[in-house]
Amino acid sequence: MNRPIFYALSCILLVVSGLWVLLPRSGQLPAQEAQDPFLQLPFYGNKTITSYVDHEYPTYKREPDNDNNIFTRQDGQRWTPPTPVEAHNCYSNGERRCYDGHSGIDYSMAYERILAAANGTVLKAGWDETNCYDNQDRCRYGLVIEIEHDIDGNSTIDYVTLYGHLSAISVEQGDKVEAGQVIATSGKTGNITGAHLHFQVKLPNERAVDPYGWNAPAGTPDPWAIHANGATSWCMWLNV
Ligand SMILES: [Zn+2]
Repeated sequence: MNRPIFYALSCILLVVSGLWVLLPRSGQLPAQEAQDPFLQLPFYGNKTITSYVDHEYPTYKREPDNDNNIFTRQDGQRWTPPTPVEAHNCYSNGERRCYDGHSGIDYSMAYERILAAANGTVLKAGWDETNCYDNQDRCRYGLVIEIEHDIDGNSTIDYVTLYGHLSAISVEQGDKVEAGQVIATSGKTGNITGAHLHFQVKLPNERAVDPYGWNAPAGTPDPWAIHANGATSWCMWLNV
């Protein structure tokens, strides 16, 4: 089995089964090309995904055409109105946790250590909005870290990872961090109802991508990849 197929199947297996197996660090492959996996999970142990990336406009309704109340998961499953709702019941226990326009992955976590997902440089470490500490829409990700990653070593930033709703951070803007380094403690700051980690991967131009890729049946295109302002997702994980 060639490597891209292996990683794609690994991503599918992860999402379907919720079974996470961490390989030893020595098993990781160096990121030589843009399509080589380069991320490791940003926490210790196994966590449950409670919300996925919406492949239909993962922009939090910041564009005029994206308030469609449709949620499309990376496996191609779509949740649509008739009842216009903002959160669809995509979670295994039926809770409505897939948010229209959601740009990242939510992992069920309380107050636990957060790890850098790859080597990089801290772009942002602090409150998402000034003087915004409570649970309001405008407080967004609350205490948040963003890390820039040059994954092919050509001195340009390829991707940015974002870690939101943190309770404490232990890095500063400009710090160099290594994959697996403890950078924060998760929490429930910002626009949030319960503690979790919002983990997002995006291009330097802010367009969200799904680190689990697009794993729909053949012939079903990723709506975000074919959107004029969209981006292509691919399986970025080294260790899932
Ligand atoms: Zn989230």
